Amino acid sequence: MREQFLAAKPALPFVHAPRLSFRSAAVAGDRWALLPSAAGFVDPLLSTGFPLTLLGVERLAVLLEEDWQSPRLIKGLQAYETQTLAELDTTAALIGALYANMDQFDAFAALSKLYFAAAMFAETMRRLGQPQRVNSFLLMNDPKFGPALSDCIEKARRRTTPPDRLPTIEAVLKAIEPFDLAGLGDSFATQLASVPRGRFAGRSAEARRRTCGHRASAGALRVHRELMVPRGLRRPRGCDTLRT
Ligand SMILES: Cc1cc2nc3c(=O)[nH]c(=O)nc-3n(C[C@H](O)[C@H](O)[C@H](O)COP(=O)(O)OP(=O)(O)OC[C@H]3O[C@@H](n4cnc5c(N)ncnc54)[C@H](O)[C@@H]3O)c2cc1C
Repeated sequence: MREQFLAAKPALPFVHAPRLSFRSAAVAGDRWALLPSAAGFVDPLLSTGFPLTLLGVERLAVLLEEDWQSPRLIKGLQAYETQTLAELDTTAALIGALYANMDQFDAFAALSKLYFAAAMFAETMRRLGQPQRVNSFLLMNDPKFGPALSDCIEKARRRTTPPDRLPTIEAVLKAIEPFDLAGLGDSFATQLASVPRGRFAGRSAEARRRTCGHRASAGALRVHRELMVPRGLRRPRGCDTLRT
């Protein structure tokens, strides 16, 4: 490295920005709104910038389309501001819990599954034509997942002496179970002999998918499986090798 950069000259002075996160006090007003990416920045840890922003774009597009010339616009913008800030705060709380558990990898890994389980569930429901069921980031407005997520975060931030990761892991497994389309909890509980598996790993992935909120129509499950496989890799009927 030293040799490679021996002749290099800095084009700009070294910049150290110790704190990048911010949260805007106002996010919307009279016929204006900030996108979530301008309303706040949390941390790169979970790569949440694009999904937060895209949710904001979608909400603003609906407002522009339906309420631009209507007196409802102001209320819609206020609701947009409230939701945008709440999602940034929830993201910050989860990321804070992750950082608080950097020294307990099992708990850290479990907490990260909250994001993946929520994202996979939300994306699948959107593709199944039910976006209204998953209209908040990290499913924070979902009556089941939202409170369970808060419980996980609260447990994860509670520091005990000696440190005990099990309450966090159990809370995560319980939170994701109804939404866990990919068996994230199963594989995790299997790796951890100390986690009581009976409650979480007793049901098959198929059974879990049936209770995940698809309302278990065979068609929906088939669509789900199809959607999880990239189009170019779909297995044609009666063929044993994957088409590339
Ligand atoms: C280093 C880095 C890594 C990131 N990695 C990830 C990641 O892995 N996953 C993730 O989800 N998010 C990531 N993000 C966040 C993500 O990039 C942003 O959340 C997202 O790009 C925001 O989209 P945007 O359209 O609001 O803004 P931008 O993508 O910033 O687009 C704004 C555009 O407006 C243009 N513009 C600005 N002012 C004017 C003007 N006056 N006139 C004309 N044009 C103008 C800019 O040139 C720019 O092209 C990362 C961000 C950074 C900085």
